Formats: sequence, C-alpha cells, structure tokens
Amino acid sequence: MPHVFEPAPTGRAKCRGCGRPIEKGELRFGERIPNPFAEGETTLWFHPLCAAYKRPESMIETLAQAPKDVPDPEALERAARGASAHRRLPRISGAERAPTSQAKCRHCHEPIARGAWRIRLVFYEEGRFNPGGFVHLACRAAYFEGADVLAPLLHFSPDLSGEERAELVRACGEAADSPPPSKKP
Ligand SMILES: [Zn+2]
Ligand SMILES: [Zn+2]
Repeated sequence: MPHVFEPAPTGRAKCRGCGRPIEKGELRFGERIPNPFAEGETTLWFHPLCAAYKRPESMIETLAQAPKDVPDPEALERAARGASAHRRLPRISGAERAPTSQAKCRHCHEPIARGAWRIRLVFYEEGRFNPGGFVHLACRAAYFEGADVLAPLLHFSPDLSGEERAELVRACGEAADSPPPSKKP
C-alpha cells in the first residue's frame, strides 16, 4: 500500500520523528514499511514536517502524487529535498547543551564539554529510530558535509526556551560565516 496523509482519528499515536503526540484531527503522514516482525506491512505515523526531515524519500514519493489536502506542500518538499541530499541529515534529533562531559563526539571522538552545544543523533533501522550519540555543534559542517542543519535542529528541539533557540541560531551563524581564528592569515 502507498504512504498516506490522513487526519489522525485519535490523539493517542505519537510521532516517530519527534516523539510528541499527534493531535486528534491533525493531519498525519503514514509511512508503510514491510513489517520487520511479521508478515505484511506496518505503518509509521509522523507529523508531516517530521517525516519530511526523517524519512525524506517516502515524503517526496508521496508528494509527487499531489495530495490535495496537504497544507504547504512546498515547505514539506523543501525540507525533504534538503534532507534527502545529505545522507546524514535525517539523523538529526535536536540540539541541547551537554548536561555532563561524558559523551564523546561521533565525528572528532573528543569529549563534549559540559555546557557545550551538541547535536543529538538517531539511526533509523527497521522502523525504529535508535539513539546514536552526539556530535559537537562545532563539528556540524564536517559531519553533515556542509549541509544547513539549523532548520531541522530547531524543529527537533521544541523543549528549548526562546533564549536558547536564539543562542543556537547565533552559534550556527557564527562558525559558518567565519573560519576559526587559528586559520586566519
Ligand atoms: Zn513529530
Ligand atoms: Zn566533535
């Protein structure tokens, strides 16, 4: 069966992309995948924008059939095309300040200092998004191959305060605009 957009019949299902509930009546995206545990297919439910970032190919395929009732399909398409162009972007699961300095960065393998910004990663496998560690925010260009990470970072960080979001935007802008001081001539 093809993937679907449909209004959520109840408010009980959680979005696989962000872990938050999908409100009753809210439009949701259902990705049909072969059931990893049994015969037949199973459906993974998402907020549409969460699916665009985390399951871009399925979103692009479904948008191509031009469903009429989807609000702002251009935004979904943009997000999905961006995520689809960089194989690691769908791993983004938000940003946070490291609560301890125990985790190591998946990119540079150095510890992430307590209080430093880090990006949460998840890995998709057989219908599940498994926690996959962290990278330094400062390692984003190298790890994500220069892709613009800010929009998905903000999207998957709903718990940040307005002030923290502004800080994150600033932090992403700064390092991208100017090379590190050591590399200046
Ligand atoms: Zn979601
Ligand atoms: Zn790093």
